[in-house]
Amino acid sequence: MVKVSVINTGYFKLDGGAMFGIVPKSIWSRINPPDDNNLCTWAMRCLLVEDGNRKILIDTGIGNKQSEKFFSFFQPHGNEDLMTSVTHFISAEEITDVLITHFHFDHVGGAVSCDSKGNYYPTFPNATYWTNELHYKWAYDPNAREAASFLKENFVPLKDSGLLSMIEVEDGVRFSDHITLRFYNGHTEAMMVPFIDLGDGRTLVYPADLLPSSGHIRMPYVMAYDIRPLVTIQEKQSFYDIITDNRHILFFEHDRQHETGKVIKNEKGRFVADSLMSLKDQLHNN
Ligand SMILES: [Zn+2]
Repeated sequence: MVKVSVINTGYFKLDGGAMFGIVPKSIWSRINPPDDNNLCTWAMRCLLVEDGNRKILIDTGIGNKQSEKFFSFFQPHGNEDLMTSVTHFISAEEITDVLITHFHFDHVGGAVSCDSKGNYYPTFPNATYWTNELHYKWAYDPNAREAASFLKENFVPLKDSGLLSMIEVEDGVRFSDHITLRFYNGHTEAMMVPFIDLGDGRTLVYPADLLPSSGHIRMPYVMAYDIRPLVTIQEKQSFYDIITDNRHILFFEHDRQHETGKVIKNEKGRFVADSLMSLKDQLHNN
């Protein structure tokens, strides 16, 4: 038996141009209206997967321990945060696993908390935190483009606590009874994408920053943040081959409006969004 629940951790802002790469503002701004500073609003939507005895949290949002100056750039806002959303379902102590797709601050920030004396500690005390060797090394010794996204206080304390474990980098590797992982290298090195078998013939995929929103489905819509944009395009193609053939459900981490959707090929042979709706409605459909 597997149960999936949305964990909202609030919204933040990122430059619209950076989010859409080479796509002109006149096009992306139609569905993603920017503010006066060209910033668009994005969700940081995580997922709780209760898979047998394991209570697995996928990604953790931006957290709350960074400086005011840092937060002034990214303007986290909204009524929900990681802990409130998790404890709506279970206690923090009950989380057994935290699967972190990659260590960019908007995905791993909530994994480490900070006490009033400035000491860092893992937010979920009984959990094993999961990454892989390739990504850990990449984040620990970052290139100049990603250095501002890999903040050591977000992941080194996990290693120091002894709670960080490494997953073997092999497509299709089994993570839990109902979750297998695939690895993608266009956005960053060895980003992990969970495929969750819902047990009823359907699969829910958490593509993380391979497909951050339903507005990123078309091929050239690749974020300027990606370290290897041409690899992202190849990976989107092979990802679509899997998910369109099988009608997999996608969970959008950063989509401001839509929690889930599907990708279909239209009559012109273009990949387009389909069945955009809440996770709840998606699960009730069919
Ligand atoms: Zn990222």
